[in-house]
Amino acid sequence: MRYTIQKEYLILILLVLIVGAITGYFNYQNNLLKEELVSLENHFLAAETEYSSTTKHLNEIIDGLQEDLAERTAERDEFERKYNAEKSRLDLLALQISGIQGTVGLLEKLSETDPELLKKYSKVYFLNENYVPEELVRIDPQHTYRPEEEYLFHSKVWPFLEDLLLSADRAGVDIKVISAYRSFDTQTGLKDNYEMIYGSGANQFSADQGYSEHQLGTTIDFTTSEIGARYTGFEETAACQWLLENAYKYGFILSYPEDNQYYQFEPWHWRFVGRTLAEELHQTGRNFYELDQRAIDNYLIFFFD
Ligand SMILES: [Zn+2]
Repeated sequence: MRYTIQKEYLILILLVLIVGAITGYFNYQNNLLKEELVSLENHFLAAETEYSSTTKHLNEIIDGLQEDLAERTAERDEFERKYNAEKSRLDLLALQISGIQGTVGLLEKLSETDPELLKKYSKVYFLNENYVPEELVRIDPQHTYRPEEEYLFHSKVWPFLEDLLLSADRAGVDIKVISAYRSFDTQTGLKDNYEMIYGSGANQFSADQGYSEHQLGTTIDFTTSEIGARYTGFEETAACQWLLENAYKYGFILSYPEDNQYYQFEPWHWRFVGRTLAEELHQTGRNFYELDQRAIDNYLIFFFD
């Protein structure tokens, strides 16, 4: 009996020891795992921090490079523009001082440029109703107010207009072409419409003047997605402001600026006159229509420069 009790005690002690050992072993393993987990977590956090700081750093470098590139591109464009304007001015000077000698190339260039492209139109001087530009191309629909409609433009002036539109796009300016080349017939229809809205009289003369320029294929009416065909309020848009500051760089001028003597203010109506003349008008603050026709004709030779 005593022996049995002792034996049972021994077994109990043994069991307690075994349970203790197992518990101890599991606790030990658990702690090891916990430590490993914590160290993994730390590792992960460190890697994450490093990754995000590297990404941030790379993004900063990319931003910096992009800004640099935009700046350089703008500087180069500006330089090119100034260079071309200066070159045209020197050519003009050469033409004026050297008479016929050595100007055969320039005269040939002049003979190939349609003189109508730089004419002033007025109550007494209209563009012939049979006049059609030498070649017309379709304006890229992404730049037009109604992309499903076909807007036509003078093929040799289109590259200048496209540059203007892409540049406005890059500057984040909402600008759309709403009217471009108009044939005499289209104009007659529109004119009837205009008369219904505004009546005849002073506006009739004004409208004729503007229409002639559209028949050249080198004149554009601009609008924005918001303003559309209303026209009114265009002068308050960012598009109008952008045009006033930049259009001359692409050879476009406002035919009828605010407070001009000839026609109602049309902030949306822009005519291509070539970069040399546009630059000259911009720098001197003068209007196309107040210049003498003979002075304007001097610039015909640089029309497509
Ligand atoms: Zn117009």
